[in-house]
Amino acid sequence: MARATSALFARAAARWSSGFVGVSRRTPGSGARFAVWVLASLSLATLGDFDFRAFVRERAERRPGSALGNDHAYAYVSDRNTRSTFERVKPVELAVAAAVRTFKNVGKAELLGHAVKIGPRQFPRVHALAERCAETLGIPVPTVYVVSNPHLNAATYGTNEDAFILVNSALMDHFSDAELLSVIGHECGHIHNNHVVYLTALHYLTNVAGIFVRNLAVPALLTLRAWSRRAEITCDRAGALCAGELEPALRALTKLALGSQKLYEELNIEAFLEQHQEAKGSIGRFSEVFSSHPWLPKRVLALQTFAESELFRKHAGLGAGGLDMQQVDERVHDYIKVVG
Ligand SMILES: [Zn+2]
Repeated sequence: MARATSALFARAAARWSSGFVGVSRRTPGSGARFAVWVLASLSLATLGDFDFRAFVRERAERRPGSALGNDHAYAYVSDRNTRSTFERVKPVELAVAAAVRTFKNVGKAELLGHAVKIGPRQFPRVHALAERCAETLGIPVPTVYVVSNPHLNAATYGTNEDAFILVNSALMDHFSDAELLSVIGHECGHIHNNHVVYLTALHYLTNVAGIFVRNLAVPALLTLRAWSRRAEITCDRAGALCAGELEPALRALTKLALGSQKLYEELNIEAFLEQHQEAKGSIGRFSEVFSSHPWLPKRVLALQTFAESELFRKHAGLGAGGLDMQQVDERVHDYIKVVG
């Protein structure tokens, strides 16, 4: 591949939209030169090579065991429901197929070109955190890379068979081990819940939308973003479960919103949450439908509600009692809905 196109891809890859926190809301149509290149790449792709139906079938049959007792009891019901609906939507099916093909051809190599792989001999302290998360959720130890990037973010990309977590260097520098545990746990939640191909499709749709047939890109993008906002709720819960306590998971979320290590100690969480009340009445709240992530105050409120569940309280050793997951999800639904 030519160096110019390689650099373009790297630049696009640096603008993750589907990471731990959404940082970009680019719409289809920009990056024309790059789009042309990727379109050319994709014209070589045969969509039929990726058997979407078999993927969905196989995914449904997999039930990994975990330290949590049973499968995905913590998952936000709206994440599961939305996914089961869009798995029958043609634009999403085509977008996933195209994204997987692109990822296999060039994407993985480009995303990982400058990344450092974490393992028992490379940053073993961080590797041990990934091992703990894997044990909590009952998944194989994930492949984790650290990548040079000044933004506080992490993301998971790939395919079902070949998923990996990217953690930005800034996040490694600013977050404590307990906070990192919740971030890596969040990303492991994406793997545990079989979100990865959809996140990869969302990444390509957002950053290099020209690769998709124009009439399919926008419906697929909006569908995947609507789902992604719900998937984030599931994975924030996974992060808290992996951390084993609410505090570091909340801290990780609010640090992302603030982006300042120095100011963090002075942050007034209650005032931060009041922002959500202010935004609720404004017409601007509808812009959230174009975002892959719920506004952060909503994520904080949703996570605090999950922490009141019987499931979490038991896992964190906080004693018996608490909300059942249906009660949690009903309350969370009220927080995260965009309209109403
Ligand atoms: Zn996420």
